[in-house]
Amino acid sequence: GKGAKGSQFCVIGLGRFGSSLGKELVQLGHEVLGIDRSEELVDDLSGTLTHTACADSTDEEALRALGIRNFDCCIVAIGGDIQASIMTAILVKDAGVKKVVVKAVSELHGRVLEKLGADRVIYPERDMGIRVAHQLVSPNLLDYIELSSDYSVAELSVPRCLAGKTLADIDPRKRFGCSIVAVNKPQGIIIAPKAEQVLAERDVMVVIGTNEGIEDFENMVS
Ligand code: ADP
Repeated sequence: GKGAKGSQFCVIGLGRFGSSLGKELVQLGHEVLGIDRSEELVDDLSGTLTHTACADSTDEEALRALGIRNFDCCIVAIGGDIQASIMTAILVKDAGVKKVVVKAVSELHGRVLEKLGADRVIYPERDMGIRVAHQLVSPNLLDYIELSSDYSVAELSVPRCLAGKTLADIDPRKRFGCSIVAVNKPQGIIIAPKAEQVLAERDVMVVIGTNEGIEDFENMVS
């Protein structure tokens, strides 16, 4: 789930990724403690994040003094210094934080993080690269979520060639093995649309199916 408003997050490493994540969590109504060893970064964010602290996160005593164990979720967003990332992750996990999310810069870094008990390892650059590649080859693809290695949910923008057609006309279930589970129109979102639902250009279809099926559907609509 999204977590109740007022969850407490700790973001360690306030570089480009960590600072963006921290600011967004505050926007979403949560409390965020941002930690970085760079005084300059901490100063920059002191007005934006709920709390900030200048500390070395590989210093167990410093983490304890900041009450790290009281946070619901801690995100370790240290990229460049792999040793600091690994040491911070294990200290935070050992402190008893329930959910520890760690940014990895490579597959091997990620494997180490998983072995030491990170609850979630994220690869922002790798994943964004993949995402942008999909969007470049298929301009109608707005976003997608992989459900497994075989299945995904994708948001496809309705191109002009499908405007005025109904879902029954398109029949993606029969042609591509994909279901349209929602249609987002300017007037509002229609969940589980009926076969007679008419599409307009620029509506957004939410499609679920096999990766191959979605790809075929995308190619058909682009
Ligand atoms: P990005 O690519 O997201 O900018 P970086 O790896 O460049 O990520 O930034 C990571 C941040 O983590 C930097 O601001 C750095 O000062 C901070 N950092 C690195 N090691 C430590 C540490 N041991 N304790 C606290 N902060 C750290």
